[in-house]
Amino acid sequence: MHPSLPPLDHAKSGLPVSVALAAICCACASSSAPPVSARPVDRPVVTAPRAEGDQPTQLTLPFEGTWIVGQGYHGSESHRGRAAYALDLVEVDADGRAHDGGGKRLQDWYGFGADVLAVADGVVVRAVDSFPDNRVMGTATNPNTVIVEHAEAEFSEYVHLQRGSLRVRAGDRVHRGDVLARCGNSGSQTPHLHWALLSSVDPIRTRPAVFSVYEVRDERGTWRRARGLPSSGDVIRPPSGPGADQSLDATIKNSIESPAEQGVATGPCCNPPSSVRK
Ligand SMILES: [Zn+2]
Repeated sequence: MHPSLPPLDHAKSGLPVSVALAAICCACASSSAPPVSARPVDRPVVTAPRAEGDQPTQLTLPFEGTWIVGQGYHGSESHRGRAAYALDLVEVDADGRAHDGGGKRLQDWYGFGADVLAVADGVVVRAVDSFPDNRVMGTATNPNTVIVEHAEAEFSEYVHLQRGSLRVRAGDRVHRGDVLARCGNSGSQTPHLHWALLSSVDPIRTRPAVFSVYEVRDERGTWRRARGLPSSGDVIRPPSGPGADQSLDATIKNSIESPAEQGVATGPCCNPPSSVRK
């Protein structure tokens, strides 16, 4: 948990504290198994190991609004083995809460139903949305998943999607920022997005990722532009503030040319996410 971030409101929800972040992705590890109803890809996909730092694709965050990294790389709950390099992303409000009300209904969670966006241009190689969304803290079933191929041995994976929400099918070409589906609770206990960069689809094999540009909130509540990989507990959002009206490609270019962090917005706390659903 970020040291300055108010705790998620689990006292109010009645959910155990351990639910707060650590246990949100109990089924992520099992998501590494090929879904039984996955549509076959329409052509062979090239998978191969990539050296660390060898990432030809520029990545942006897969959401709008403000989210927290609930479980990062090598998370003790489920990000181990071939699933080690994955992020569990949870939408939060201005006070850092992940849900309104008691948190016992899926609709209480701000992230449930939030748009999930393509992190880069590519081609969909897996699209599964036949599995139901679990009730909160229910027994996990299989997760709905989208996988997009960006380059040789470079794929992005989006897991726990809402049943019936997919806007893409295997073989579709997508562009950065396109809505792929909605965040859900299939194969999970609480709504969140499990996201990873993959070097292999079958079997699923995650690899370290670098985001070209995003913003992270520091302990004083100041948003700063960053490049790289957010860590567990980081509160993050897409670029905003000065320059945010530029095209995203221009923002990425500027970020690459000026990699030093820049203060971009200040305030006592984060802005309310744009896609809060109560
Ligand atoms: Zn996960």
